[in-house]
Amino acid sequence: MSVSFLSESIQYLKGIGPHRAEVLSEAGVTCVRDLLQYFPRRYLDRSSVVAVRDLTENGEPVTVVGTVRSTGTVPSRRRRRFEMIVEDPFGGRIKCVWFQQVGWISKVFEAGDRVAIHGRPQVYGRLFSFSHPDFDKLDEENPSLDTGRIIALYRGSASLQRAGITSRSLRRIIYRLFKESGTSIPETLPEWVREKHDLIAGRVALRAAHFPKSRDELDDAVRRLKFEELFFVQLMLCLMRQNHQETAGASFDRGERLTAQFLGDVLPFELTTGQRQALKDIDSDTTSGRQMNRLVQGDVGSGKTVVAIAALLRAIDSGFQGAFMAPTEILAEQHYANLIRYLHPLGIRVDILLGRQTKKERDAALRRIKSGTTKVVVGTHALIQETVEFKDLGLAVIDEQHRFGVMQRAQMFSKGQNPHMLLMTATPIPRSLAMTLYGDLDVSIIRDMPPGRTPIETRLFFDNRRDDMYRFVASEIEAGRQAYVVYPLVEESEKLDLKDAQSGYESLKRIFPDARVDLVHGRMKGEEKDAAMRRFKSGATDILVSTTVIEVGVDVPNATVMVVEHAERFGLSQLHQLRGRVGRGASQSYCLLMADYKRSAESRERLSALVRTNDGFEISEIDLRIRGAGDFFGTRQSGLPDLRIADLTTDTEILAEAREAASALLKQDPFLGQNQHRAVRDYFERFYARSGMKLARVG
Ligand code: ADP
Ligand code: MG
Repeated sequence: MSVSFLSESIQYLKGIGPHRAEVLSEAGVTCVRDLLQYFPRRYLDRSSVVAVRDLTENGEPVTVVGTVRSTGTVPSRRRRRFEMIVEDPFGGRIKCVWFQQVGWISKVFEAGDRVAIHGRPQVYGRLFSFSHPDFDKLDEENPSLDTGRIIALYRGSASLQRAGITSRSLRRIIYRLFKESGTSIPETLPEWVREKHDLIAGRVALRAAHFPKSRDELDDAVRRLKFEELFFVQLMLCLMRQNHQETAGASFDRGERLTAQFLGDVLPFELTTGQRQALKDIDSDTTSGRQMNRLVQGDVGSGKTVVAIAALLRAIDSGFQGAFMAPTEILAEQHYANLIRYLHPLGIRVDILLGRQTKKERDAALRRIKSGTTKVVVGTHALIQETVEFKDLGLAVIDEQHRFGVMQRAQMFSKGQNPHMLLMTATPIPRSLAMTLYGDLDVSIIRDMPPGRTPIETRLFFDNRRDDMYRFVASEIEAGRQAYVVYPLVEESEKLDLKDAQSGYESLKRIFPDARVDLVHGRMKGEEKDAAMRRFKSGATDILVSTTVIEVGVDVPNATVMVVEHAERFGLSQLHQLRGRVGRGASQSYCLLMADYKRSAESRERLSALVRTNDGFEISEIDLRIRGAGDFFGTRQSGLPDLRIADLTTDTEILAEAREAASALLKQDPFLGQNQHRAVRDYFERFYARSGMKLARVG
């Protein structure tokens, strides 16, 4: 059989057919290769099955194996449910309960079925009870696949179950695949990489992942497969970086008169060490003759804007123009005000492009940009419209880069002859993720804060001390300060979300009758939102109630209080971002976290991490540890690759090895053109096509 069977549709495999093929394709499985890489979610290791008599309440999740004794749907006034009693070989009984999808689940089980139940047991009445447990039906007819010591269990979902795609049927289908064509699965890693990193053959690993003979074999298989996956991710990143490094870029080496004047005379403060280092990195990139792709990462308030302005001045010193793109009008205006303040004294013309300008204003600005009279243009997405033409764009700065899509960055890039790109983000990324997320960018990190800032004081309040919180807010407002009150976004229901913020707004107006209270939320139009933000910024509002829409980076130095309602519902990194909106002036600022007392110990622990530290990087590490990489941003949005087996949170050692191997391979064969690497290249092309990697690349 030829290698091409791997890319054949699974529809024609015995036991699948068009309907199941469609259901599987929703789970990302369309061809034979996908099926082989549809890795088990867990393994049922018979040696670790727990007897019912040894169960304890609220412990770790456990697996119980037994026979279904009875099943039944229980009608109830509140909610219908399906219950099932399972008995283990020692006569111990457990109860399993489902409240959802009762219709289909009641068709899954029959008395006499042998099942494995996985979940966290709780005690209700006399029996241990599992609600909505994971389960697997064990096979009687085909014992050879199921009586081994370790059994693969696959991800289940209602639609998979409904189509009859269970762990049991998957094991059979995959077993048959290996029997018929297992030997023709090609190796994807070069021989020398496998030797150096002590990896078993791909074919052997795939088979062992589905049908392990022992724990040891399974461990070797998993390591090999994770390595392979991370190796190809790294290969992709190294190739991109290689491409950038070959792109020629404008050289900023014609003096630094303006930059020196700005840093020496205009700027009222000294740069921090981190700012100085970032600027040095940028200087060496922009004078190297190659095009720069640099990401500056720094916590909110670390002073990234000044770095960007200094970089823009280097461009102007060398006869180029610069562009500065921000995600919202209010941020663009804030940057514009800063640029005017710093650059007008140097005699530099700055323009702004916004969506809401009149045609006349806009046309005039466009003419100045095209002729080169304007040296720096600030704006929102309006900057990348077709009508915007530069005379000679040498540097594009993109603020809050994660808010822009790849296409938008590419459009910005296309406005000049390979302009240097400077991306900025206030979202700290743990090192292990940064390597993957930004592997194709050079990164400068600003870790220190400008001096003279009083660290924000964070306090945790439970509902019983709500009045204390209000008293505190009142005292700050009396002292002439302003406050934010933020409500979480409730994902399932935008309506509910609004209701929370809205009723909060109403009650705050009652509690603070003399204060000017305003509301901003996600359902408002962009202009309305901006207008509300502007009122707050100008001091016309005392308390701004909002859902999570208030913008990152908006500088309101007089706002000293950030109240976060239902703080337990936010992610740690998100809370840290919110907190960063205060503490921008000289006076002491406060972040008050309001939490529900009944929350779990885990969420209390998370919130106290926030009380303990102000360091965004430390918080992001904690957050990552708690949530795992997939969840950290949501894989799709973040540009993180969709991984099938590796986990960026925990597989950092394998990641480092894979990275080393990938870069060694490219050193030896930069375009994978050698015959011995043909299989690597073939697989790489496929991997690239399906990886969904968006990456922060620009060029
Ligand atoms: P961010 O990194 O969040 O974009 P900004 O660039 O908006 O931060 O800077 C926050 C504030 O800190 C601004 O008011 C800015 O003028 C001030 N700032 C920046 N650098 C320094 C410095 N080295 N010393 C003192 N203040 C600084
Ligand atoms: Mg900023």
